Amino acid sequence: MPENDTTKHKNKTMGRRKSKRKPPPKRKAIEPLDLQFNCPFCNHEKSCEVKMDKGRNTAKITCRVCLEDYQATINFLSEPVDVYNDWIDACECAN
Ligand SMILES: [Zn+2]
Repeated sequence: MPENDTTKHKNKTMGRRKSKRKPPPKRKAIEPLDLQFNCPFCNHEKSCEVKMDKGRNTAKITCRVCLEDYQATINFLSEPVDVYNDWIDACECAN
């Protein structure tokens, strides 16, 4: 039996592994695609989480520190970082 389970600490690069059967620790989302970004409002690092809802072509990004949120329209090519960039653009427009 090979025993090379070196995935203990999370890899932040893209690409997801589906080989392991172990359930994620706390997320219930179907897609383990969410990424975390720095908040443009409260400046906390990695406090903003993107939820992609490709079934409805929407995505929502929420800061868990200051609870700012933003909803964006996405398509099947969209990535969480696109939602984040849209948010930043929207913030800059608002100012
Ligand atoms: Zn925030």
